[in-house]
Amino acid sequence: MATSSTSMHSSYASDNARGASSVAPACPGCGSRTVRFVGRIPDAVEFAGHSVEVPLSGGGLWSCRGCELMFRYPTLPKSMLDHLYNQGSEEAWVTPSEQRVDWALARAALAKWGKSGSILDIGCYDGRFLLSLSAGWKRHGVELNHAAAARAATAGISIVGTDFASLATFEGRFDAVTAFDVIEHVENPAKLLGECATVLRPGGLLIIATGNARSLPWRLLRSRNMYCICPEHLAFVSPQWCANIAPSVGLEIVSVLPYRRVERPLFARAFDVIKSAVYSLSPSAIAFLRRRGVGRLSHPVKVDYPPLWPSARDHFLAVFRKTHA
Ligand SMILES: [Zn+2]
Repeated sequence: MATSSTSMHSSYASDNARGASSVAPACPGCGSRTVRFVGRIPDAVEFAGHSVEVPLSGGGLWSCRGCELMFRYPTLPKSMLDHLYNQGSEEAWVTPSEQRVDWALARAALAKWGKSGSILDIGCYDGRFLLSLSAGWKRHGVELNHAAAARAATAGISIVGTDFASLATFEGRFDAVTAFDVIEHVENPAKLLGECATVLRPGGLLIIATGNARSLPWRLLRSRNMYCICPEHLAFVSPQWCANIAPSVGLEIVSVLPYRRVERPLFARAFDVIKSAVYSLSPSAIAFLRRRGVGRLSHPVKVDYPPLWPSARDHFLAVFRKTHA
């Protein structure tokens, strides 16, 4: 056990050294060169819930001292990412509507703002969130997946583009824009926020929901947390990052609401924390137990991955208001 633990620690350390030897990148959000290497991200064996034949290089996790963005570098080439997205399961992103804590929080924020208006959902899939709103809203969507966009259109959603980049030339203005689990998939989240602000009327709301790169799993597991290991996740934001970036794109923060995606009883949440705490101290201890078939600690994908932590309060919903034209 002692030998196994030592070898795992030395491989963890040499992994980190390999990532750190890469040339330090500029921050993809603010362009600053004052970036810090956090650690090597383990290679991934799944992309968007779909197994891949050859492990995908994780790259390194970096943190920007300028804007507080955390980001993966190097990333997989765009052509490979596009190919992998096309291979992925169409249903990989779908969670039953009644389990979407972020949608419930967003509906509450929108209801506080008003009962009607025009709304754009970026990454609307087949329009499920938009269709859950009250009838007073004129619903629009942006969606890359053609089959899902076609279903949304059939359900009465006006599809205005396939990609958020197309918003730069869009002439309409909306009272609200939403983007759930989208910002972590783009290389430059500041650009996404700016494009969203461009299509908002002054006083309109932007609502984003994503992982929180300052939450407990990140502080404990750093570059080895599962959110980071997902190879389709490129950039990682936090409420602090939102506060830093908002004024530069004409937005102000109305509220920040941390949430858990899965509610579990207190004892289950405590067990989740203990497993991850043990892993943070000794990944080999968890791997050792898994190899011996300790069921509750098993991971469906890889023996040396961090334990799943479904009850972590590691997401947040940020509500912004557009401050000027
Ligand atoms: Zn930055």
